[in-house]
Amino acid sequence: MKYMWARQHYKDGIANSWQPEEISMQADVEQWKARTVLSANDRRLILWNLGFFSTAESLTANNIVMAVYRHVANPECRQYMLRQAFEEAVHTDTFIYCCDSLGLDPDEIYQMYETIPSIKAKDDFVIELTQQILDPRFEINTIEDVQQFVRNLIGYYVVMEGVFFYAGFAMMLALKRQNKMVGIGEQFEYIMRDESLHLAFGCDLINTLRAEHPSIWTAAFQQEVTVLVQQAVVLESQYAKDACPNGMLGINAEQFSNYVKHIADRRLVRIGLAEVYHQENPFPWMSQSTDLQKEKNFFETRVTEYQAAGSLDMSDF
Ligand code: MN
Ligand code: FE
Repeated sequence: MKYMWARQHYKDGIANSWQPEEISMQADVEQWKARTVLSANDRRLILWNLGFFSTAESLTANNIVMAVYRHVANPECRQYMLRQAFEEAVHTDTFIYCCDSLGLDPDEIYQMYETIPSIKAKDDFVIELTQQILDPRFEINTIEDVQQFVRNLIGYYVVMEGVFFYAGFAMMLALKRQNKMVGIGEQFEYIMRDESLHLAFGCDLINTLRAEHPSIWTAAFQQEVTVLVQQAVVLESQYAKDACPNGMLGINAEQFSNYVKHIADRRLVRIGLAEVYHQENPFPWMSQSTDLQKEKNFFETRVTEYQAAGSLDMSDF
């Protein structure tokens, strides 16, 4: 076996197995129906995040299966990508389960990538960046082709899963910290744990390609990647302001933007580039290790213990 890191990500992914039905949505259903618990602001950010993530998960799954998998022949990397594709299916299932629980119209939620400009802007940015790889005639022969392929990996692993997911994660977890919609909040915690592995795999793949094809990593290409991440930060900040225009209890809208800058720097460093923002983490609670041991006992849910210690330190992400 050549890439033990890929094998390890596969094992870690299996150890993190979960299903949305294992999490009770009863309290969420009651809060969603009640008039007094959630503000209009809260409802807006919940809808925006359900809308954004439902499309983003499908785009990511399609990209793995139809673009990345074809060009990465290494068996242990392929094994991980099959696992990741399954996890994206679980995540799509999670949004269906959330819509069903709350009585939301799934079509309306899935259409938000067309009806909400700040969501459409993020999806368009990634799609545009990676379109050439989806062309069935695309082959990797030259250095420019390798760069094109790395652009795709940057688009999905670093920008989509590494930047575009994180204002949403912060909003939903902040809401959970206020004891609002704790079921959806827990669903997002499980998704975030999976996504931190997807991101780690993507960065390891990018770094392996850099090591094996050092000539792709020109000053101009490094500059291009840095600019892409900066553009992503602008789009993600606009999205955060649109989803949560008035901030939340104890959090102003600007802090979401600062959080995005903070994590963008960490992504840049992870793939060997320099920090841009030098922004302190405004949400230290986001990087604390999240203990997701499935020891909770709900009356009606089947709780499966896949792993003795189901905690994962997410502090790297
Ligand atoms: Mn996902
Ligand atoms: Fe993912």
